[in-house]
Amino acid sequence: MPKINYQNLEKKLKFEKKNCWEIWNEEEKKKVFAFAEKYKGFLNEAKTEREAVQAGIKIVKKNGFKNLAECKSLKAGDKVYAVNHDKNLALAVMGKKPLSAGFKMIMSHIDSPRLDLKVKPLYEDESLAFFKTHYYGGIKKYHWPTIPLSLHGVVVLSNGKKVDINIGDDESDPIFMITDLLPHLAKAQMKKTLDEAIMGEELNILVGSIPVKDEKVKEKVKLAILEYLNNKYGIIEEDFFSAEIQAVPASKARDIGFDRSLIAAYGQDDRVCAFPSLAAILEAKPAERTQICFWVDREEIGSEGITGAQSIFLESFTVELLEKLKQPSNLKNVYRVFNNSRAFSSDVTAAFDPDYKDVHDPRNCAKMGYGVAFEKYTGHRGKSVTSEASAEYVQEIRKIMNDNKIIWQTSNLGKVDEGGGGTIAMYMAKRGIEIIDIGVALFNMHAPMEISSKADIYCAYLAYKAFYK
Ligand code: MN
Ligand code: MN
Repeated sequence: MPKINYQNLEKKLKFEKKNCWEIWNEEEKKKVFAFAEKYKGFLNEAKTEREAVQAGIKIVKKNGFKNLAECKSLKAGDKVYAVNHDKNLALAVMGKKPLSAGFKMIMSHIDSPRLDLKVKPLYEDESLAFFKTHYYGGIKKYHWPTIPLSLHGVVVLSNGKKVDINIGDDESDPIFMITDLLPHLAKAQMKKTLDEAIMGEELNILVGSIPVKDEKVKEKVKLAILEYLNNKYGIIEEDFFSAEIQAVPASKARDIGFDRSLIAAYGQDDRVCAFPSLAAILEAKPAERTQICFWVDREEIGSEGITGAQSIFLESFTVELLEKLKQPSNLKNVYRVFNNSRAFSSDVTAAFDPDYKDVHDPRNCAKMGYGVAFEKYTGHRGKSVTSEASAEYVQEIRKIMNDNKIIWQTSNLGKVDEGGGGTIAMYMAKRGIEIIDIGVALFNMHAPMEISSKADIYCAYLAYKAFYK
């Protein structure tokens, strides 16, 4: 019997995560950091789904994508974009094969947890004016008082004119803030659970304090704010009903650490996947199959609504592509397209946080800086409310990753029965599309500032490019 070299055997047989920074040379690190700068620029420009779509259109137009609505016909190699209600962006690079051979799609979401203004938000209390809010998505409410907030969104006036709101992010702008109790008087508050310390109805944003000078007016500060809004934007109080205004952290994306290896920013779930998927399709060479990059909205509240992943925008987009390709656009063929398609649900996962080891399964969770993370299934409690990628599909994807030398890792969101979460994957699976979750692992997910690793973002970008090839 020849002597076995167990070190070689270990290399051959064991499946270990690899730290990107230990693998890359200086030249590669430069590319990683340069990509991160572009990503940070996008984050600062795109704090809401509407802003993400606007920023996305600007980028793709510069890169030769045409508005699908304006194209009379399509052929292989054409690059098009389509927009749904200002909150979804779909991009396609037309393949050489008929669309019924299936597309390769990367779908991510561009909505993030935040505070939405209520439909009648403005009120006055003790000579101060406030906006009432209703939080959107899964937040820890105690995160939101005392941080600088900016306001973003649109107001549609009764005459139909649409007014853009974007105030608080420019250095010269005022910011807005939710107050909190001083520790000196917080004895009772400090005994409450984190869940109860700050209640939803207490997430009220301070917006002003100077009254109008008129003894007969009852709410003088509220009227002064209305007067300001009317002069500046033409808004009357009823217009808030036909508005979508979101309060988000006023901070810009920043580097973390002496080595600048990490990024802190608002809304990285899921723009940390949306941006690399866009970057990847910009560089995608027309291939056999059509390549699609698809940004959805409303993932954080269950993908409901006309701009969520459960909406029919994917169907209508597919039908429009088929019609303009002069290929059958009946339901049968649409389903054939879906059944032959391959997709990534590109969304974030939780990174193993050494301060909170107890909630993770360390053998199965993603590590910061160890590459793009694959999640075979999400959900909670006995794999409920999730799709699961098949063994066959996982093999296909694993091969693409390894053939292209992508640094990747597997991931699971938390210990069994610890909690859980979902993504848009199950809504694509329902349509017959093979799909797997893949994305960047975060710390502080859903907090006002989330943390990502520049290494993982770059790996996501490389993985998406490899998938499109
Ligand atoms: Mn997400
Ligand atoms: Mn989320």
